[in-house]
Amino acid sequence: QAVLGILGGGQLARMLALAAAPLGVKTLVVDSAPDACAAQVAPLLAADWTDYAALESFARQVDVVTFDFENVPAETAHWLAERVAVFPAPRALAVAQDRLAEKTLFRECGLDTPAFMAVDTRADLDRALATVGAPAILKTRRLGYDGKGQFRLRTLADADAAWAALGAQAAAHGLILEAFVPFERELSVVAVRGRDGDFRTWPLTQNWHTDGVLSLSLAPAPAVDGLQQRATELARTLAERLAYVGVFALELFVKDGQLLGNEMAPRVHNSGHWTIEGALTSQFENHVRAVLGLPLGDTSARGLSAMFNWIGELPDAAPVLQAVDGHWHDYGKQPRPGRKVGHATVCAVDAKSMAERLAGVARALQRESQAEPAIQVLG
Ligand code: ATP
Ligand code: MG
Ligand code: MG
Repeated sequence: QAVLGILGGGQLARMLALAAAPLGVKTLVVDSAPDACAAQVAPLLAADWTDYAALESFARQVDVVTFDFENVPAETAHWLAERVAVFPAPRALAVAQDRLAEKTLFRECGLDTPAFMAVDTRADLDRALATVGAPAILKTRRLGYDGKGQFRLRTLADADAAWAALGAQAAAHGLILEAFVPFERELSVVAVRGRDGDFRTWPLTQNWHTDGVLSLSLAPAPAVDGLQQRATELARTLAERLAYVGVFALELFVKDGQLLGNEMAPRVHNSGHWTIEGALTSQFENHVRAVLGLPLGDTSARGLSAMFNWIGELPDAAPVLQAVDGHWHDYGKQPRPGRKVGHATVCAVDAKSMAERLAGVARALQRESQAEPAIQVLG
C-alpha cells in the first residue's frame, strides 16, 4: 500500500488524506503542531522543518512527498528530494514561493501581469512608485497569504506609511511593488499535470475576496468566452516550463477582457474546493493520482457549484444541509478571527436554480452580502 507524505497539516492536507483513502493510499502528515486539523483524519508526525532526525524517519516511511503548505523552506524540500520522490519538485516550489520570480516567469510564458518592480530599500520604493505609479500594492515577496504582508498605497504620499508597515521585512524576504489593477473580475484556473505529462484543467472559477481573503467561488465561471482556452494554454505552458507534477492554481485578473497573472499556488487551492462535489474528479483526488503516477481523472464539472468560505467561525450548518445538494466541510479548527475554518458547496443544474439556492441559503445564514456578487453574475 502506497504511503503519501504531506508537509503541513492544515485543511488542504486533511482533504488530501480524505481523497487518498478510497484509492488505497495511506497518508502521513508532518506539522509542528500535533493538533493540526489534518491529525483528525491522518497520522501526524510532529516536527518542524529543520528537525532532520524526524524528517529522516518520515522519508523512510513514505513513497512520495507533497505539500499542504507552500512555504516549506526550499532547503527542507531539497533535502527530502535527495531521499524520496518530492512532487511538485523543489524548483517549481521555489519559483511559486517568490512573487518576483513567479511574475517574471508569467511574462516569459506570455502571461501579462500588473506592472511590478522589486523593492529592497526605501529608495527603491520611490523609484518603483515613479515607474509603477499609484494606486499600488506593496507586498512581501515571500510568505504572504490571505492578503497578509501587503499594504495598499492610494497615492504617492502613502510611501512612508507603506515603508513603516513592511520596510522591516525588506531585508529578510524582499518586497515587490505592483500596480493596483481595477479588474472587472477575478478568475482562477486549477490545473493538474501527471508524472507522464498528461495535463488537464478544471473549468475556470470566478472568485470574490473580502479583505484579501477568498470569500466565494462560482464554477464554471459564467461568460468566459475565449478565456477558458487561453487560461488552459497558459497553465500548460507554465506547467511544462516547471516540469510540474501535481495540482496548482493560477490566479488571474480580467482587465479590459484580457488575462493578467496575479500569482500561482503550487498545491491544491481554495478556489478548487468546489471540485469535491462539483466535478467528476476532485482536485484532491487528482493531486494524489498525479504525484503517485496514477492515471488522472476527468476534470469536467457536473453542473454549477458555488463555494462559501467560512472565515473566523462556522455558521449554522442546517440551512446548507437542508438545501438540496448542499455540502458542509468543517475543518475541525478552533475559531479565530481571519482563520479559514470551513466551507460549504452548493450545487445546481443551471444558473437560475443556482441563483435561487444561493439567495435562499444566504438569507437563512444572514450572509446575503457574501452571496450577492455571484447572484448578480448569474442573473
Ligand atoms: P492567497 O495566497 O490567500 O490567495 P495572497 O496573500 O497571496 O493571497 P494575493 O493573491 O496577492 O495575496 O492578493 C489577495 C487579493 O488581493 C487578490 O486576490 C486580489 O483580490 C487583491 N489584489 C492583490 N494584488 C492586486 C493588484 N495588483 N491589483 C488589484 N487587486 C489585487
Ligand atoms: Mg498567495
Ligand atoms: Mg492570491
